[in-house]
Amino acid sequence: MKNEQKNIKDEMSEESEEKYRKLVEFSPYGIAIHSRGRVVYVNASGAELMGAKSADELIGKPMMDFVHPDYHEVVKKRAQETQERGNAGRLIEEKFVRLDGQVIDVEVVAIPSTHQGEPATQVIVQNITDRKQAEEALKESEAKYRNLYDSAPDMYHSLNNEGIIVDCNETWVKAVGYIKDEIIGRPLTDFLTKESKTLFEKDFPKLNKEKTRINLEREYVRKDGSTFLASLNVISEFENGGTLIGTKTISRDVTEQRKIEGALKTAYTDLKSLDELKGNIIANVTHELRTPITIAESALELAMDEEDEKKKKELLGMAIEALTRQNTIVGDLIEASQLGMGILELEFESIDLGHNLDSIVAEFEPVFIKREMKTEVHIEKGLPSVRANQKQLEHILRNLINNSIKFNKKGGKITLSAAKKGKVVEVVIKDTGIGIPKDKLPKIFDRFYQADSSTVRVYGGTGLGLSVVRDLIEAHGGEIGVESREGKGSRFFFTLPVARD
Ligand code: ADP
Repeated sequence: MKNEQKNIKDEMSEESEEKYRKLVEFSPYGIAIHSRGRVVYVNASGAELMGAKSADELIGKPMMDFVHPDYHEVVKKRAQETQERGNAGRLIEEKFVRLDGQVIDVEVVAIPSTHQGEPATQVIVQNITDRKQAEEALKESEAKYRNLYDSAPDMYHSLNNEGIIVDCNETWVKAVGYIKDEIIGRPLTDFLTKESKTLFEKDFPKLNKEKTRINLEREYVRKDGSTFLASLNVISEFENGGTLIGTKTISRDVTEQRKIEGALKTAYTDLKSLDELKGNIIANVTHELRTPITIAESALELAMDEEDEKKKKELLGMAIEALTRQNTIVGDLIEASQLGMGILELEFESIDLGHNLDSIVAEFEPVFIKREMKTEVHIEKGLPSVRANQKQLEHILRNLINNSIKFNKKGGKITLSAAKKGKVVEVVIKDTGIGIPKDKLPKIFDRFYQADSSTVRVYGGTGLGLSVVRDLIEAHGGEIGVESREGKGSRFFFTLPVARD
């Protein structure tokens, strides 16, 4: 009975050994046993894996011959650990060197075993070279796209379905001035202005139904508190079932673009008003040129038949005055064109400005009386002479005084003063007239510009005077400026260099 049992046991053991042997022999994994540092067994897959025609080419060879030098230490340590622990070690990745010298990536698990009574190690090996290469290729392509993503000129970010930032590119990070760790995991609304936050909260739920939303405008807030306007395109991402899982957004900083658009709009409006102005200029200039002729013509006609000497004289005076006015206008036009072409040559001399101011104010005396205007002239004591052209200086003063009368009220006041300021003398012409609206001040010295350029304007003129005055003053090396309050009056001031003598 006992013998029978033993036989059955032996048979079973033989049977199971045979099964195990076949399992090992035909396993698709490479299986090898090494003992005392040498290969003592290799199955068919193992031989193929190592590039051998049969296992015989490998048996007896040092096991380390097949391990890449970079992994010698790892393998030695693992063999030792396996023996000490007495059970299978963990799966590790290493590199083998095949018989033909080709290096392959393998995944190995080592199990303690025995061979002819000696301690041995059984290893199960899988060639993972193809998988590794595919992983490498994937990593490379991911890095390439990440690179593109990060260096794109636009800002990219991804949100989950709760509006939390799950990813963003480097452009986004730079634009808001935080570091990436301070961004990921935070709600997008932390980076928006209050108004944009409200818009986001209103719009985000709508993304459940819409696939894309384009040209949204949001204002981002940088870490330093400053803000910038961006144009956003949003794409929703849905699960198979159709529920929103998140969004991907491209934002573009449009601050500069808006500025350019604004500048273009202003330039367009300026051009348009310039165009309108052009029409008015022709009308104004012709009107200004014709009016004195008409006045002079009728005054002369009347004078021809006038018997009364006093009245005749008055009529002739009127004609002279009208023609003088016309002469000034023609003078302005000629000077403006000469200045524009840069052909006006000025000869400078040393001039007593105080004396000039007094004599020109005296010229206007009849007008002051007629318009019941008060004048005051303040010349600083010891005022030095200025370096100027006599004719042009008179033109400048006449023009500015004329304006302060023309744009003044009956009974108004004009104050003139001259004082030394460093290396220049400053002349101020102040009036109590209609003043100039703030928005028109910067244009007042432009050629043909008139604060009131409408066809129904009250005041005559061509809009040339101040532009000629400014050009002449600048040709003298001086500067002109104006301060004004609408309805209160204007204060024109200009400088001329002190003469050297
Ligand atoms: P014009 O007097 O022939 O219109 P100017 O070049 O001398 O041309 O002046 C341009 C414009 O500047 C005037 O049309 C007027 O609107 C404004 N202006 C000039 N001087 C004065 C002033 N003293 N007070 C108010 N407005 C003035």
